[in-house]
Amino acid sequence: MLFCIFAKKSMAQTALAELGEFKLIERLTNSFSCKNESTILGVGDDCAIVSASPDKDFVITTDLLVEGIHFDLMYCPLKHLGYKAVMVNLSDVYAMNAKPKQITVSIAVSAKFSVEALEQLYEGIALACENHSVDLIGGDTTSSVTGMTISITAIGEVAKNKAVKRSTAKSTDLICVSGDLGGAYLGLQILEREKLVFTKTGTKSPKLDGYDYILEKQLKPEARKDIIERLAKYNIHPTAMIDISDGLSSELMHICKQSNTGCKVYTDKIPVNEQTAKVANEFSIDPITCALNGGEDYELLFTVDINDFHKISMVSDVCIIGNIAPQAEGYMLITPQGSKIELTAQGWNGIK
Ligand code: ADP
Ligand code: MG
Repeated sequence: MLFCIFAKKSMAQTALAELGEFKLIERLTNSFSCKNESTILGVGDDCAIVSASPDKDFVITTDLLVEGIHFDLMYCPLKHLGYKAVMVNLSDVYAMNAKPKQITVSIAVSAKFSVEALEQLYEGIALACENHSVDLIGGDTTSSVTGMTISITAIGEVAKNKAVKRSTAKSTDLICVSGDLGGAYLGLQILEREKLVFTKTGTKSPKLDGYDYILEKQLKPEARKDIIERLAKYNIHPTAMIDISDGLSSELMHICKQSNTGCKVYTDKIPVNEQTAKVANEFSIDPITCALNGGEDYELLFTVDINDFHKISMVSDVCIIGNIAPQAEGYMLITPQGSKIELTAQGWNGIK
C-alpha cells in the first residue's frame, strides 16, 4: 500500500499518449526559468547554450537510447550501436553550428550482456570519438532489470554568440537541407521485414543485398561535421538550424513555430536517394512521405539569408528545398503541378 502515499486519488490522470512527446516536455518544463547569468539558452533547442568565456560558448545536449524502443540487437550490431549513439548527440551539436569536444557515456545493462559485448559497444564509441575528434570524459555504469539503456551527453564549443538556434529564421530566408532523406526509415523497414521472416521461418540468410545505402543510413548514420565545415569555408552563417531526427516536416515546423514564420517547400526539390525511391516503391510508399515523416536521417535542416543564394548554391551535398514565408501563409508543400498541401508534423513519437 506504500504506493497510495504518492498517488493523489482525486487528481485526474492524463495518459502520456494524450499529450505526445513535445507537449509533455513543454508541460514538465514550462514552469522552470533560468536564473544563472551563464545560462544563455535553456530547454527547446537541439542543445542548451552556456557561456564559457568572454569569447566562447558551450553547447550541451543529451540523448537516451533504450533497447526495444530505439534499437533492436537482433539486427543492430553493438559496435554500430555505440557509433550511432554518439552520432545522435554530435548531430545536435553540429545543428548549433558548434564543434563537439567531449562526451560522457552512461549505460544500464542487464546480466545478459558479457564484458566482451560491452567492449564491442565501446569500440563503436571509440571510433566515433576518433572520427570527430571528441574526448570521452566520463559517465556512469549500472545494472538494469532487462536490456540496455545508453545515455550520452555531448559538449561542444562555438565562438561567442555564434550558436545557431531554431528560433531565428526570417520570412525571406531560403530553406536548405543536407544529404538526402527517407533512407534511414526504409533501412529500418528492410531490417524489420527480415526479422519477421527470421522469427517466422528461422531462415538465417536475410535478403539484404542491394539495400546497402539505406541500411548504412539506419545502422551507421554520420553526423554532418563536413557540412558545418563547408558552410564556414564559404562564410555562410545559417539564420536557423536543426538536425533531422524526426522527419523533415516535424523539424521544419519546429523552426517555423519557434521563429514565428510560415514556409513553402517544393516537393520536387526534396532530396531522395535513388535506392530510397526504389525501396519506397517496393513497399508501396511515396518516397516523399518517407522524407517528410521518416525518422533518423540525421541530416541538417537550415535557413540562410536570400542574399547567400549564390554562395549556398556552390556548397556540395546541400539542396535548397523552398523558402521561409510570413506566418500568415502557413506551412505549405507545393507539388510540381502547383497544388498546395498543408504540412503536418507526424514525426516520430518516442512515447508509445
Ligand atoms: P532533439 O530531438 O534535438 O534531441 P528533443 O526533441 O529530444 O530534441 O528535445 C527538445 C528539447 O527539450 C531539448 O532542448 C531538450 O533538452 C529538452 N528536453 C527533452 N526532454 C526533457 C526533459 N525530460 N526535461 C527537460 N528538458 C527536456
Ligand atoms: Mg536535434
